[in-house]
Amino acid sequence: MSEETSKTATSTVPVDSLRASVRSRFDATVAELVDLVAISGIAWEAFDAAELERSAEAVAELVRSTGLDDVQILRVNKDDGTPGGPAIVARKPAQPGKPTVLLYAHHDVQPPGDSALWNSEPFTAVERDGRLYGRGAADDKAGIMAHVGALRAITDVLGDDFGLGVTIFIEGEEEAGSPTFRTFLQTHRQLLRADVIVVADSSNWKVGVPALTTSLRGLVDGTIEVRMGTHAVHSGMFGGPLLDAPTLLARVIATLHDDDGAVAIAGLAGGGHAAIDYPEDAFRADAGVLDGVQLAGTGSITSRLWTKPALSIIGMDIPSVALSSNTLLPVARAKFSLRLAPGQEPQAAMDAVAEHLRTHTPFGAQVTFTPGEMGQAFATDTSAPAAQSALWALGAAWGVEPVESGMGGSIPFIADLNELFPEAQILVTGVEDPDSRAHSANESLHLGDFENAVLAEALLLAKLDADSNG
Ligand SMILES: [Zn+2]
Repeated sequence: MSEETSKTATSTVPVDSLRASVRSRFDATVAELVDLVAISGIAWEAFDAAELERSAEAVAELVRSTGLDDVQILRVNKDDGTPGGPAIVARKPAQPGKPTVLLYAHHDVQPPGDSALWNSEPFTAVERDGRLYGRGAADDKAGIMAHVGALRAITDVLGDDFGLGVTIFIEGEEEAGSPTFRTFLQTHRQLLRADVIVVADSSNWKVGVPALTTSLRGLVDGTIEVRMGTHAVHSGMFGGPLLDAPTLLARVIATLHDDDGAVAIAGLAGGGHAAIDYPEDAFRADAGVLDGVQLAGTGSITSRLWTKPALSIIGMDIPSVALSSNTLLPVARAKFSLRLAPGQEPQAAMDAVAEHLRTHTPFGAQVTFTPGEMGQAFATDTSAPAAQSALWALGAAWGVEPVESGMGGSIPFIADLNELFPEAQILVTGVEDPDSRAHSANESLHLGDFENAVLAEALLLAKLDADSNG
């Protein structure tokens, strides 16, 4: 029997056998996913906590069925002393000399939202035209089933020859903002320690084209207050020699971008290359840009979205038009949000904003900067062995070259994983596609891509195992 094998000479991955195993079990895998979708485990306080517990029990049972017997449901307390969401952790220890892989997904889901917007019941998963519709069918119960399905295929094909350590970690509060994630990682650091972390909670490039999410932007925010007087004064008696605070604030805001609309704060990182582009007309349509409105910045759209900073004003404290009167207002405030390029330290970005504001004080107005939240960016070293193995596995499963995709937003818990396990390589993979509508009505999973995602993960695990055979 001739098998298609991994390209590296040192290792052999039984691609065809793993594909056959995933195929033969696929209908059963989808049936189990349908059963999981039927449990409406939502980690928001307003929802029934018993459903979240049922969800955790069901996931624990699925994980147990892969042969991992050390399955625990764990939780840590929030700052206010109430318990965090139930997480499922299970381990298969590594054979001597073998690395350990942590497989992450989350079992809690978003609330269904307005039921009138759904074409079928959110918690009754149904298949239409090759897609499985239901809340959590993609985000992220398909991620759980990708891990479960991959482990079963590995057991079928490799059995006891598979020596890689495997830790399953299925979070139970991701959609509620992971309130106890950091504490959980700190508390269970030894249990969760791994050489490679697979986060199956992102998106592929499009149906039929896989992606490895290789970068995420970071974020800082803060408020800018401009003050020019001790109290409001009559605009007829004082206007002319004196500018009002909203006008002065507008002049400060105007300095934050250059004439092209690129961020003009000195010292910010950015400018990396993105390997694939997002056609401008598609971007304009997706963002709902009006005809005639020009785009900001330079370079490809993807490089502007993934590898450069972006600054937006997201709120202002000034009187509303309805409450306006003929006065020179002494104070005005704006909140900004600054997305950071991968490689940018958030504190350095915050300092750069502070320095910019110190040196841009129109008409000598008092400009006060109050720093807000900070979130780390993330970038995968795609030349590292695990990333190379993941790209190989995605290509082999789909039969299509994978895209190295950035993400303009952030997945906050990735920064926590990166910080607490700095030695681990983090691989962000996906079961979704751009039409999956995670968090929205009619969330769905493309079943063809899902089968490929299960296979890709099995291939990745087999390859990591084979490559560590010394
Ligand atoms: Zn998710």
